[in-house]
Amino acid sequence: MNPMGMIMAELRLAGRPASPGFASGPVVRLVEKKVHRVSSNDPAREADDLKKAISDALLSISALADHAEGEAAEILGFQLVMLEDDALSEAAFQAIASGLPADQAWREALDVEIEIYCNGDDEYFRARTADLEDIRDTVLDHLNGSHAQFSVPPSAIIVARDLAPSRFLSVDWSRGGAILLSEGSPTSHVAMLARARRVPMIVGLGEIPDSASSLILVDGALGQVIVSPQDETRAEFLKRQSADEEIAFKATALEAEDAVTKDGTRISVLINIAGVEDLDRLDPKICDGIGLVRTEFLFGEGPVLPDEDTQYQAYRQMLEWAGARPVTIRTLDAGGDKPIKGLTVDGESNPFLGIRGVRLSLQRLDVFRVQIRALLRAAPHGKLKVMVPMITVPFELDHVRALFQGEYEALKARGVNADMPVLGMMVEVPAAALAVSHFKSDFFSIGSNDLVQYTTAAGRDIGAVASLADVRHPAVLKLIELVAAHGEHSGCDVSLCGDAGGDPDLIPLLLEAGLRSLSVAPSLVGRVKLAITHFSFEEVRTRHG
Ligand code: PEP
Ligand code: MG
Repeated sequence: MNPMGMIMAELRLAGRPASPGFASGPVVRLVEKKVHRVSSNDPAREADDLKKAISDALLSISALADHAEGEAAEILGFQLVMLEDDALSEAAFQAIASGLPADQAWREALDVEIEIYCNGDDEYFRARTADLEDIRDTVLDHLNGSHAQFSVPPSAIIVARDLAPSRFLSVDWSRGGAILLSEGSPTSHVAMLARARRVPMIVGLGEIPDSASSLILVDGALGQVIVSPQDETRAEFLKRQSADEEIAFKATALEAEDAVTKDGTRISVLINIAGVEDLDRLDPKICDGIGLVRTEFLFGEGPVLPDEDTQYQAYRQMLEWAGARPVTIRTLDAGGDKPIKGLTVDGESNPFLGIRGVRLSLQRLDVFRVQIRALLRAAPHGKLKVMVPMITVPFELDHVRALFQGEYEALKARGVNADMPVLGMMVEVPAAALAVSHFKSDFFSIGSNDLVQYTTAAGRDIGAVASLADVRHPAVLKLIELVAAHGEHSGCDVSLCGDAGGDPDLIPLLLEAGLRSLSVAPSLVGRVKLAITHFSFEEVRTRHG
């Protein structure tokens, strides 16, 4: 019942899943407060006030950073670097000198930057807007004297337009909770943090009605929110939640075990990572190696690219973590939804069909050669496999091999310790899948995210066509079968490293298509192994007669 004593009707809202998991609880609505600060009308004092607010904001962000690890530390580090850079505040100080109050000058200057990010061509870039908004609001809070510890009761469901990473990090999530955003993006920093901490999160819910203040049920994986649920809905939700908890429990118990089907076939389960920090507190025993390192995340958003030594150290640490297990490092896959300032091509009419992945690397040999040398130097420290993204024609892979060979010989001639790694390709362009036998590749890894979008002509980041972009499409399964069969005949390893491999419902189809190796997000390893133990090739054969 609402405060007027009326029974509220059950309401269902649908958004985009950003982090899976179930939650139920009371709602905490974050509203953007407007505080009126009285200006001193003295430009010198206003400038001093802004300087002090920036330095206080730096202190408060550093305090959060001191207790943060991995991805959280990286986000806060990024905010510190941005805020320490005078270029960010320059326009605000100029506006103050021309008579504007400090808070207005700061807000307007930051809003200009935010607008640029927000109107970026792709979702990845737009998702970074939240970091700049976070910086803007933290400084404004200090300027307005309204910087207080953000307090949210345990297990609350936060409802907001968007959520800043620093706000996320100041909440104690250990007793549950969830995040519901009317805007937001599944690729934002806060979404990555939510997934890492297993906090259910749904974005793009649109207007979340004010009546949404009683009990709310959240199913993060489905992107479903139920407001004021009826008793039967609640009972059904609790049943699904406890079934999920049981699965999670069984999955955790299997994490460090080998993945074997019910009828005894061993399946390799590897992990996908974006950087060394993803390996923090992760036991190598849970996987058969690293099946995909998305090195573009090492390159950040530019414009300063990591030098050879920085890359070498990162690759070496990954290899040392894995020991005797293979580590598959993918060369730069910038472009598409992953632009890098100063490197990728601006203004392409369709970046997913443009200069992306190996196409960009082969145009920017100055950058590519640095990565190749770092990989060659890291190779003696473990079992390195190098994988090239977006290969479409054999010449691209041959060219990359020649570049590796040339750099290897040059390093050796200088007496530098280096090894030639195994060199393979991703199969994510349908043309490469159909012509797979034409490629001189040491191994193949299927990028189902892109293979699906290119096969079904349904963009992977366009919600309106999400139902078309389905791995279950017979055409996609046929392509996977073709590649798996080629691997079997030629003796080359074939794996799959797209998101499909982490979906327990799709695993039977992938195994039936001939795959015996999957690479998935570390948090999904247990669930994937559980799905494998439930599968039997024998039963499938019997079913098909
Ligand atoms: C893929 O396309 O499936 C893949 C693993 O690569 P990314 O998601 O990084 O494009
Ligand atoms: Mg891809």
